[in-house]
Amino acid sequence: MQYYDPPTQEMRFVLEALNYEEEVASLEKFQDFDLETAMAIVDTMANIGVEKLLPLNQVGDEEGLEFDPETGSVSLPDGFRDAYQTLVEAGVMGLTGPVEYGAAGAPEPLGICFTEIATACNKSFSMCPGLNLGLADALDHHATEEQKEYYLEKLVTGEWTGTMCLTEPQCGTDLGLLTTKAEPTGEEDDEYEISGTKIWITFGDHNLTDNIIHFVLARLPDAPEGTKGISAFVVPKIMDDGSRNDVYVTGLEEKMGIHASPTCTMSFEGATGYLVGEPHKGMRAMFTLMNMARLYVGIEGVGLGEISYQTALAFAEERRQGRSLDKDKRQEDEDADSILVHPDVRRLLLNVKSTTQGLRALGLSVGIEVEKSRHHPDEEVRQKADDYVQLITPLIKAFGTERGFENISDAMQVCGGAGYTKDWNIEQYMRDERIAMIYEGTNHVQALDLIGRKLPKDNGRLLRNFQERVMAETEACKEHDELTPLVEAFEKAAGRLMEVTMNLAQVGAEDPEEGAAVASNYLNLLAMVALGHVWMQMARHAIETDADDKETRIKTANYFAEMVLPESGLYKKLCDVGKDPMMDFDLDEF
Ligand SMILES: Cc1cc2nc3c(=O)[nH]c(=O)nc-3n(C[C@H](O)[C@H](O)[C@H](O)COP(=O)(O)OP(=O)(O)OC[C@H]3O[C@@H](n4cnc5c(N)ncnc54)[C@H](O)[C@@H]3O)c2cc1C
Repeated sequence: MQYYDPPTQEMRFVLEALNYEEEVASLEKFQDFDLETAMAIVDTMANIGVEKLLPLNQVGDEEGLEFDPETGSVSLPDGFRDAYQTLVEAGVMGLTGPVEYGAAGAPEPLGICFTEIATACNKSFSMCPGLNLGLADALDHHATEEQKEYYLEKLVTGEWTGTMCLTEPQCGTDLGLLTTKAEPTGEEDDEYEISGTKIWITFGDHNLTDNIIHFVLARLPDAPEGTKGISAFVVPKIMDDGSRNDVYVTGLEEKMGIHASPTCTMSFEGATGYLVGEPHKGMRAMFTLMNMARLYVGIEGVGLGEISYQTALAFAEERRQGRSLDKDKRQEDEDADSILVHPDVRRLLLNVKSTTQGLRALGLSVGIEVEKSRHHPDEEVRQKADDYVQLITPLIKAFGTERGFENISDAMQVCGGAGYTKDWNIEQYMRDERIAMIYEGTNHVQALDLIGRKLPKDNGRLLRNFQERVMAETEACKEHDELTPLVEAFEKAAGRLMEVTMNLAQVGAEDPEEGAAVASNYLNLLAMVALGHVWMQMARHAIETDADDKETRIKTANYFAEMVLPESGLYKKLCDVGKDPMMDFDLDEF
């Protein structure tokens, strides 16, 4: 049983609360995307998700993929091709891609809404459009005009799909260890022969399209060691004359989840590839691709958290066990009361609801700032928007996926033993979500990025700008007495963050191991404050617009304040401890 009603009303509410019209639709590039148009697009995507992707979700999980070792070709379960064509015809494959090449050119918040809905409906399938948009973005920023002409239209219309080929057997997190080679063919300036093995390549082969474009990191013969010697290439499966390029899938992984998403071992056997950007500067193109991908992966936790919440709620509304501890609330004409009367069932559901809503708003806030950072006419506004995107993206990826996983687990708990069976499908969501904490840079790598790059940047400017926003919102919320619990809890959390940050700036600069030891807990602490901030924005908007669900919204905000935000105290304590509890051990003591 799958319960899912795409939360389009909630998405509209959040976009209104975050001033989408003023912040995004007013930008010249997005004049055709006012809120009504944006929501009409979201509704269309929601219908496609529910009608085409959701019915294939369990099918994909159970049937999995077919691999033919003779030809190296991979087939997805029946129905996936048809679903893919529906997305292509609806123009969803290139939703946020460049209009010059036939894409819709929609703003990122719509890409985020689509990612959430598509992931909830069918996470395996949703990974394919995500890769296409990421590759198109990287090519749009780094490829030559000729390359853009050749590849972009086909990618954004969905005629072809893309992959991202980074990982090798000896090189995962540490891309500096990469050994795939690129030798000039001597025929065209940008043409190379690519040789090496890549592993765990998502959608490395499939039967959805005739051609697949691989984005490959490799080393030129004269490359310096480490990440400074990595170049980026595009390697088509099928060449422009229709011949087969020498890149083959040699195996498929058996995985815990996402059974309908091919995870391929790829052998590049002197395959023809074309350099993207400058030699040895491939990491730049890779970061363009990765930055949006990190945001989208974080949203996977929101999508699967939401469908799990809806499932758990449907279960809880039906299930009767035990009696309410408050005699007045008992339904005496029934043998037992709904489990919704029990405080702990409510705690579990509200944990999931309040953090899922918060993470959705945080993701959309980043989507809005992405567009401001790219298209706002005022340079200072662009800079501040970019600061926000850089600071918050690692939180969305790491906290979004970790809390998403925990939320699915809490939703399973609400359903008791039934939640652990296949009947309610939460177990699939849990298996499918787990990988999101690992790929696109493990969650700890996000934390290292936060404390190692984002915090020190320009003497802490990113965090200072964030504080300014937060303080303005806190002051605005103080006008509303109903929000006192939220404001008070928020100020405590923000104070903890500042204390830890000051300490970290000192201790971390002297001893990088201290910084690394607390990085993950620091990221969680900052995530608490960032979520508190968007909750203040949502709650204040509900009050100031007298929203229909104002009372529920305020109660949920205050639940978040009193039951979730105090976690910031724990994260602070763990940060204060520093590295000793881990680093005091010798290697042979493990
Ligand atoms: C289903 C699936 C799909 C994937 N899709 C793709 C794809 O499409 N393209 C692609 O290129 N790759 C893909 N990957 C690979 C994925 O990106 C890597 O698994 C990920 O980057 C982590 O690398 P690793 O698995 O080698 O872990 P390792 O790098 O071996 O890390 C192991 C552990 O050590 C930690 N660690 C490593 N280095 C450090 C450090 N310096 N400091 C602190 N801790 C550290 C990590 O956080 C992790 O907990 C996929 C993987 C899977 C399982």
